[in-house]
Amino acid sequence: MLLIRCPWCGNREETEFRYGGQAHVHHPQDTSTLDDQAWAEYLFIRDNPCGELAERWVHTAGCRRWFNAIRDTATNRMRAELPSARKPVTR
Ligand SMILES: [Zn+2]
Repeated sequence: MLLIRCPWCGNREETEFRYGGQAHVHHPQDTSTLDDQAWAEYLFIRDNPCGELAERWVHTAGCRRWFNAIRDTATNRMRAELPSARKPVTR
């Protein structure tokens, strides 16, 4: 069982959380100028490293707050959990 540390509640089992995808995917500024390729990249294309990835998580069975974390996709080791409203977590 993977333990995930919620910034507000501390360590909890992974079943209390829901994955929210890659962190820091920025919405395009002027969407009226995007072509289909640019929309597809914004909506569907994400990093897929074998290593650390900045991710969004929500503590659904606890405080229901979102936060960002760095997870190593090879080992599932998580570090640098931060409230998502604070400074971005970088790889
Ligand atoms: Zn929590």
